[in-house]
Amino acid sequence: HSGEDIRADMIDDIARKHYPACARNLHENLRRDRHLKHFGRLQYGLFLKGLGLSIEEALLFWRRSFSKFTDDQFNKSYKYNIRHSYGLEGGRRNYPPKSCQQILTQDQPGAGDNHGCPFRHFSTDNLESALLAWYSPHGLTQDDLDEVTKIVKAGHYHVACTRVFELTHAAQGVKKGEGVSGDSVSHPNQYAAKSRELEKT
Ligand code: SF4
Repeated sequence: HSGEDIRADMIDDIARKHYPACARNLHENLRRDRHLKHFGRLQYGLFLKGLGLSIEEALLFWRRSFSKFTDDQFNKSYKYNIRHSYGLEGGRRNYPPKSCQQILTQDQPGAGDNHGCPFRHFSTDNLESALLAWYSPHGLTQDDLDEVTKIVKAGHYHVACTRVFELTHAAQGVKKGEGVSGDSVSHPNQYAAKSRELEKT
């Protein structure tokens, strides 16, 4: 990544400006519920690691975010798993952040879950209102949504996500068909990294 350290208190701003829909959905639900279920914590925690959050800042981020729990509850129920996903517990495997392919096909979300890919796992209505809420400040219009929904209905979820990226980065000179570094989105961290890079240029 860029070499600049990412702190826990920068995440709200980065989420608003640079997250793909899957990560934005997890972030918004975390803020609303002050909690996420297991697969949501896993998907979002690994994404944050991919974004460049150190283990210290990750623990700070999750501790503050899970504000309805006491320190004791947090330490008992969540701290181990966060350290585990950084390869600091158990088998000490440093798990990589999940790719779009993994998010689209593994661990299908059930009721009350927030992991997964909104392009694949939301109803059309929910997808449209979520995309409008998240991305209209970045230039997404109703016409754009119609175009995106068509792509979703054809089953091309990451192509739809790529189109949202293009439409919401038009002001930074990204054109239709350019995608994320010349390709379709294949990883949520690739989406966020490219978006952050464009902000700096
Ligand atoms: Fe996330 Fe990939 Fe779905 Fe985009 S296509 S929302 S990056 S899982």
